[in-house]
Amino acid sequence: MSHEVAVVPGDGIGREVVPAAVDVLKTLDVSLSFVHSEAGDKTKSQRGKALPDETREAVADADVTLFGAAGETAADVILPLRSVVNSYVNVRPVRAYPGVDAVAPKTDLVFVRENTEGVYSGIESEVADGVRTLTRVVTETASKAVASFGFEYANHNGYEQVTVAHKANVMRETDGLFLDAVERVGANRNASYNTELMDALAMELVMHPEEYGVIICPNLAGDVLSDLGAGLVGGLGLLPSANIGEENALFEPVHGTAPDIAGTGVANPAATILSAALLLEYLGHDEESTRVRQAVEAVLADGPHTPDLGGTASTESVRDAVIARLT
Ligand code: ATP
Ligand code: MG
Repeated sequence: MSHEVAVVPGDGIGREVVPAAVDVLKTLDVSLSFVHSEAGDKTKSQRGKALPDETREAVADADVTLFGAAGETAADVILPLRSVVNSYVNVRPVRAYPGVDAVAPKTDLVFVRENTEGVYSGIESEVADGVRTLTRVVTETASKAVASFGFEYANHNGYEQVTVAHKANVMRETDGLFLDAVERVGANRNASYNTELMDALAMELVMHPEEYGVIICPNLAGDVLSDLGAGLVGGLGLLPSANIGEENALFEPVHGTAPDIAGTGVANPAATILSAALLLEYLGHDEESTRVRQAVEAVLADGPHTPDLGGTASTESVRDAVIARLT
């Protein structure tokens, strides 16, 4: 079966790293078709809208989307696109790679984050002069969905350790519901896991990151802890991410448009190629996904390296080195 990939490079280095990742996908023995769409700052200046309806429709219709980054218009592009795919879970693998400096070289974590509710509900109000409140929304449905995804991901990818982050001792109702839901899903699946208070977990992740595998988190905790994880492996530069919905999914590097180097041809395409590997895994092409990941790992270990990793290589030569490992 052929799958349709919507390709939305966006702005800045998105226009350099996304084509490199598409070139990698095209060398594989998988049946994919590509639909190219525009979004971002340039689109806004040319067409008056950062996210044209055609792009929204292309993403809604496609099986998966590969997105780069958007500049000033990021909030008008990526937030609506994530809601087009209705992404209830955000997945961020955080790995240290041989050849790349990392604080914690044994780190191999996957953050599975609830992506729609919690304190990011958007329900805020001014209740009196100088007093504002926020409504923290937690539903059983979303909590169960993120738990199911997390346990399944751990099982499918051979992670033995599953940790559930929460703060149910203080947020008794909301995180109480989250934890109950996760526990019910875990019991149903006969899954083994630990629960940990999110503040204690932050400390443990710094001290013993190698003891963790998949970490299932409410929205805010996942946001903060996954950036902490990024710090353990040398920053945001190499990290891929997935936004998983009911019917489709969107994959993007964690980094932004990098305006300081955009247009110079030296952006590191690794995070986007690793995002393409997650895309393959989502589509069920596990073997090809692993091959792509291993090819990137080999290039990170042996070079060539772009300037962010201390080398002098171009985006295209890193792309070519990855492709050479695949063919
Ligand atoms: P945005 O507002 O789009 O997020 P930013 O200024 O925050 O842009 P980021 O893209 O988040 O920039 O990048 C932060 C720093 O990391 C920049 O110095 C950038 O050059 C560098 N960087 C980010 N991604 C890459 C990459 N793929 N290759 C090389 N350097 C990168
Ligand atoms: Mg940024």
